[in-house]
Amino acid sequence: MKYTTRILSLLITLSFLCSVEAQNNSFSTRSDSDHNNVASSLSNGNYTTMPIALPMSLAGCFAEIRPNHFHSGLDLRTNGKEGEKVYAPNDGYVSRINISAWGGGKVLYITHPDGYRTVYMHLSQFCGAIGRFVEDYQYNNHVYAFDIDLPKDSIKVKKGQLVALTGNTGGSAGPHLHYEIRLAENDQTINPLYFGLPYSDPVAPTIAGIKIYPANKQSTINGKNSELKVFPESKGENDITVAGRFYTGIYTYDQMESGSRNKNGIERIELFVDGELFHRYQVPTFMFEETRTVNALIDYAQYQRNREYYILSRHLRGDRNNFNIAFKNNGYIEFFDNNKHKIEYRVSDYKGNTTSRSFFVISDTSAKLTNSSDNLRSNGTPIVYFKRFHLDREGFSLDIEPYNIYDNDELIYRTTTASNVITPVHWTGLRNNALPPHQSINVALAIPGSIPASMRDKLTIVCINGKNKSACPTKEDNGWLKATSRTFGGFAICIDTTAPSINGVNFSEGKPFKANIIIVKISDNLSGIANYNCYINGEWQVAEHDGKTSSLYVSANSLHKGSNTISFTLTDAVGNTTEKTWKILKP
Ligand SMILES: [Zn+2]
Repeated sequence: MKYTTRILSLLITLSFLCSVEAQNNSFSTRSDSDHNNVASSLSNGNYTTMPIALPMSLAGCFAEIRPNHFHSGLDLRTNGKEGEKVYAPNDGYVSRINISAWGGGKVLYITHPDGYRTVYMHLSQFCGAIGRFVEDYQYNNHVYAFDIDLPKDSIKVKKGQLVALTGNTGGSAGPHLHYEIRLAENDQTINPLYFGLPYSDPVAPTIAGIKIYPANKQSTINGKNSELKVFPESKGENDITVAGRFYTGIYTYDQMESGSRNKNGIERIELFVDGELFHRYQVPTFMFEETRTVNALIDYAQYQRNREYYILSRHLRGDRNNFNIAFKNNGYIEFFDNNKHKIEYRVSDYKGNTTSRSFFVISDTSAKLTNSSDNLRSNGTPIVYFKRFHLDREGFSLDIEPYNIYDNDELIYRTTTASNVITPVHWTGLRNNALPPHQSINVALAIPGSIPASMRDKLTIVCINGKNKSACPTKEDNGWLKATSRTFGGFAICIDTTAPSINGVNFSEGKPFKANIIIVKISDNLSGIANYNCYINGEWQVAEHDGKTSSLYVSANSLHKGSNTISFTLTDAVGNTTEKTWKILKP
């Protein structure tokens, strides 16, 4: 109930704030970011003020490593509260509005005449003409969530204009503003810190871990064919013996003030071998189709275990990003002598504060390289990263586009049985680089002949990963079901005959109701809620869907005195429908 109260008071405050169209949002500009040439090429002075009238406190940095993506903007703290006013940093027009229960939640895009586009995510409300447009669109189309491009200048915006209020919508884990600056022409996203936003960061980055990894089955590190944590595991800077080819990885983050609980991303990592620059990592800007290459860049298995992101020196051949620049040997280190070699990491933040750490390795060319029999065994189908791959097995097929895996590998395939599915589970995976595919893979499963025609539209393909079973968007095609998947794993067909469920949260049948917001919880067992509608006394209502709490929020403004009916219909992805009606008494 605490949550309910907060939402109520929030909505009241928000509508008040939106009516105030003034701004006092000036910060002095700064010009101390010239350690980077990206900055000087971008600073045109139009984006040197914060979009909110608060000093910068970052809950997230540009290009920070997140599951399956680089973070594409700055997460600006809003003192733990929603409803902070958002001001346009420059003249322009609203070019896109995206509203979703997930991801960025309520998102505003403003295109500016100088070729940039600014993006604002997790908003609670759109202001002025933007707010009126959104409301009209929702009522005219009977949707809460939508994603549309707007024609040039249909909603104009002036520099300093109040455009929205911050919030916590979509996948946000707490109130903040996600702010991006992109090139308008292709949505290439750029680090906003390069545009001269004011902030201070006297603290140099922290190096939290360094590892070295054998590059193949023959290489050894201290006599073993397995990775070794060099720091902080080993005391001091002990010498390490290496034989054969290896690569390194570093786990590092930045803090803007000492003791800050937030581990922000760093600007640059440089790796020196015997004093020579060997590898550099830096992400000043990226295209969204590159964002998943983050998986190829890090020690993926370690990240899955505890979210520590070791950025690796080696560059996989099918990874087409250019953030991870290897100056030699694709980032693999190998010595052909029996000498001691110095390996040094230097890490910088966006203010140019630098931390370094070095260690020594002793090369041993006399060491007998293990000729692991594992290397000779093959139980998979070879897959070449730049070629199309097709696998046909009984009742199952798999298609992988070129450059959808990051290096040559072997596709492992087997089947098992499982409960609650009507086909065998077809397991797929890569033998060497256990990374998810870069883009979706295509799977097809034959519909068993025993399934009656009447049940065919209730079938869905599920993907099983560990304990996780999720439905893939599925289409039927000539006796087969087809789906795309962002992961390898087990694939099987399920029957979904269970309709979504809905429960009232802050009201009861026939009881007096005084709050301003009506809240329900919704869920679906398998294929997911595809659409829903809410009616009060027969009239369609905007019901705000919040994915992270599985809730719908409906304004109680249209309840009249006395008895009202509120009804919901919910449909899942295979067409199972639930209808529920309550009587609400407004005293
Ligand atoms: Zn963000």
